[in-house]
Amino acid sequence: MKSLGFPDLRIHHSINHFDFIKTDRRILIIGPMGSGKSEFSARIYRDSQVAMQKSQKVRKLTSSKRVDRRNVFYIRSKIDDKRFAEYPINSIAYRGGYVVPGKNIASIENSFELEGIFESNPTVGTWIIDEIEFFDERIAYVIAQHAKQRSLNFIFPMLILNFRKDLFNRTARLIMEESTDVFPLTAYCEHPDCIRDSYYTYRFYSVDGKECPALYFDPLIIVGGDKRTNDPKIPNYSTRCDHHHFLPGKEYTFMILKPLGELAYGGNVKPLLKELNLVKHDIEQSRLYTHFVDRFIRTENPKPTMMDALRVSCISEKALIYLFTEENIITAEQMQYLMREIGGDMNYINERLMENRKMQLTDVHEES
Ligand SMILES: [Zn+2]
Ligand SMILES: [Zn+2]
Repeated sequence: MKSLGFPDLRIHHSINHFDFIKTDRRILIIGPMGSGKSEFSARIYRDSQVAMQKSQKVRKLTSSKRVDRRNVFYIRSKIDDKRFAEYPINSIAYRGGYVVPGKNIASIENSFELEGIFESNPTVGTWIIDEIEFFDERIAYVIAQHAKQRSLNFIFPMLILNFRKDLFNRTARLIMEESTDVFPLTAYCEHPDCIRDSYYTYRFYSVDGKECPALYFDPLIIVGGDKRTNDPKIPNYSTRCDHHHFLPGKEYTFMILKPLGELAYGGNVKPLLKELNLVKHDIEQSRLYTHFVDRFIRTENPKPTMMDALRVSCISEKALIYLFTEENIITAEQMQYLMREIGGDMNYINERLMENRKMQLTDVHEES
């Protein structure tokens, strides 16, 4: 560049318009909230509208048999519909705007519904599937099959890491294994003292105006709005750097909670019941509380923020949901029993079970 008479510039990679000619691509758009994944999707849709105006010569380049890759269809999860309630129906919304892809948008519940949409849209060549980690694992194989048979392209704007900094789930892993391209996006750390590039999703609750970090065993999926809430049962999310990402209770989960669940699985439910009862009704006597005091208060480097995690509501219910839906070490009957014994919040439990694609307790044993 210098030899062309340019001054000494730092050259960054260009930000390209979407390539509708390349085929058989499965593209990950990964990044935390606020990194612009939805805006990226909206831009692909807008690019397609420009590409569609081109001549038959371009059509030849972007088509394989009946499929035209300039024909873009947007899919999202039905449980996400309530997140976008204030935008026009059938729009791709992002911070600061939205686009409306006409008939080429649908909300689905699972991979079977996706197959139905594939059947009824045989000319669509580019499929944007938003937050695919919320669907069943089967979806990864449904997509791989269709992609190969019909030269389709797929775009997956998704979270790779959950609030525990773990790979989101098995669906996310399978999709990653089958993908061909990746666009990593970052966002600023949202902590007021920080402007570092960040990748992590931080979950917290707001209780009496105080930021309370979510416990490690908080249910994996809780559908919430994009707006800040002070409801102690509904989490808030924020993008944070490693330094400002708080995740208390991981050690407690594996040192204490899970072994109590394993005892219950083996038939000795009393120790788990005792701990859950204390957490619910007399938390300062619980092993959870003692563990936190040891780790975060009586230590050289106290972290009082971590103690605030114990101010959130429904901690016992969260622990039960974790043992039931994620570790699969207590049965639905045991869960029902423990819930009754501790006087748990049945609505809270059932909402979380539904979001985590599990049967609801009321469906299990109404008569018992
Ligand atoms: Zn040209
Ligand atoms: Zn930070």
